[in-house]
Formats: sequence, C-alpha cells, structure tokens
Amino acid sequence: MAFNGTAATDVLTELYAGTDFSALSWLEQSWVAWYVWIGNPVIATGLMSFLLHEIVYFGRSIPWIIIDAIPYFRQWKLQPNKIPTPAEQWACTKQVLFSHFTIELPAIWLFHPTAEGLGMQTYQVPFPALKTMAPQIFFFFFFEDFFHFLAHQALHTGVLYKHIHKIHHKYSAPFGLAAEYAHPAEVFILGTGTILGPLLYCYFTQNLHILTVYIWIVLRLFQAIDAHSGYDFPWSLHNIIPFWSGAEHHDFHHMAFTNNFSTSFRWWDRIFGTDTKYREYRARVDAAKGAMKNATKEQQDAIERKLMAEVEAEGVIAEAEAEARGVLGGKKTKVQ
Ligand SMILES: [Zn+2]
Ligand SMILES: [Zn+2]
Repeated sequence: MAFNGTAATDVLTELYAGTDFSALSWLEQSWVAWYVWIGNPVIATGLMSFLLHEIVYFGRSIPWIIIDAIPYFRQWKLQPNKIPTPAEQWACTKQVLFSHFTIELPAIWLFHPTAEGLGMQTYQVPFPALKTMAPQIFFFFFFEDFFHFLAHQALHTGVLYKHIHKIHHKYSAPFGLAAEYAHPAEVFILGTGTILGPLLYCYFTQNLHILTVYIWIVLRLFQAIDAHSGYDFPWSLHNIIPFWSGAEHHDFHHMAFTNNFSTSFRWWDRIFGTDTKYREYRARVDAAKGAMKNATKEQQDAIERKLMAEVEAEGVIAEAEAEARGVLGGKKTKVQ
C-alpha cells in the first residue's frame, strides 16, 4: 500500500500506529485504505454506511423488478393478480430516495461519534473472527424481531396508524422496493429496532466491531426486501427453516391488514396469537385446494383468488377500525 501526502501520513500514524499491515487480509487493508483516503473517521464511517445502504437496498431490489417483469414467475406470486407497474415502482423509488437523502443522510454523520462513544470499534483492524460475529448477529436478529413485533402493533393503532403507518400500507400487495416505503417517523421508530440492538450490546460488552453491524444491516435489508417481494418460491428460506417469516408471512399482513407483525421469525406472532387469521386463511386455501384436487389449475387459482378477495375485504374494514381506535388499543374511541 502506498499513501501519498502529509494528511494521509498523519491519519495513518494517528489511527494505525503499531499496526502490522503485512498480517492483514485484503479486505482489512482496503478498510485501512478507505479510512486513510477519506482522512476523517466521522466522514469515512458516515459515507460508508450511507453507500452500503444505497447499494444493498437498490441492488437487492433490482432482481425483484426483473422477476416482476417476467410472466413465468407469476406461478410463485402470492397475489398474482397484483403486479406492480413500472410507474408504481418508479414512484416508490423516488419516495424512498427522498427520505434517504433528506432524513438519513443528514443524520448519518452522528453514527460514528455515537458508535465510538459507546466503545464500538470502527476504523480498527484486524476484524473480529466469524465465531465472534455470528452470535452477535443472531442477538441483533432476535432483538430487532421482538422490538418490531411490539412497535409494529403500536403503529396499527389510532393516530399512529392514521398519520404514520398508513403510508407503508399503501400497497396491499407489496414489492421489494416498497420495503422502506414509509413515513420518516416510521423509518425512525422501526429503524431503532435495527440499530439499538448493536448499540446496547456494545455498551454492555465493549466488544463490537462496526463490520459486524454492517453484516447485520446487509442481512436485515435482504430480510426486509425479500419479505416485501411478493413471491414464495419452493426454495424460499421459510420452506427450509419453518420459523423464518419471509414473504409468505408478511405479504398476508399487507393483504389482510392484520396479523403477522414481526419481521424475521414467526414465533412471537404464534405465541401471542397474532397469527390466527393468517393460519385460518392458509388452512382454508389448503382445504379448498384439497377438495378440488381433480379441478384444473385455473379453477384452483380462481378459488384461491376468491379467498384472497374475502381476506382483503375484511382488511379494509380492519383498517378503518384501526384508524378509529385509541393509541393504547382496546376500546374504540373516535379520533376526529
Ligand atoms: Zn403494518
Ligand atoms: Zn411491510
């Protein structure tokens, strides 16, 4: 590695004094080069975090845009009569970009000082071992899932729904790009679940590298985008890991406007009974298909669409009720 200029040499000496560069992997050397090139850790971390989010969010959404454009894949579409149009996808993209640039970009420069203040490693090398990172990432998944399970239910009540979460429910048949289509306050509230786990973990253990947080965020973005994709393939993760939520779980939430409040795992909705309508619906679809074994594929699809339409009609009523319900749930109190 060659660094030119006094500024770069200063950063190198200041941040990496005593580091044995020959012992570093290619990725670790690139990490050092990034921090030295930018010359300011606050900007280097902020910029890397923002770019990571943009590249992964839109990069992961592109395959779903292509899949939506190819009729062959409709056989695995959960709501096959609702394919997002290019105009809808573009409108959604503009909205997501707008909130990324107006909300996230100004706030991201606080990330490095906050992380460092809590004792998180940022520019430091070498990276932690995989066996250190894996259980930390599992904890972040667990924490976020439970946080989201509670906060998402709160967002389904009264003023919080009417003024905040209603935007995310614009699409009763979601698509990948719609994962972050939400009110800025919702991005903040639910984003807390993603970032608070690492911050708390770091505060209490003093043993966390930002690379682990980045890996977690990449996985979380994949989870969120795939859950909104609208497709359930035979090879989708929930068909391999039964407690994984996936699109099959979250698509129902958008279609029925109720049940299935968590993100990654199915267990909380199952334990607290917020998946009963979803399971009844699945049982009805299976029973109808079982009773029509000898019917044509078209006839089977027709009955499934009829059941979907019923659930969606119930969802419209449930949405109106949610808007009229008090913030703390329970009794219906008219919100003017
Ligand atoms: Zn919701
Ligand atoms: Zn959603």
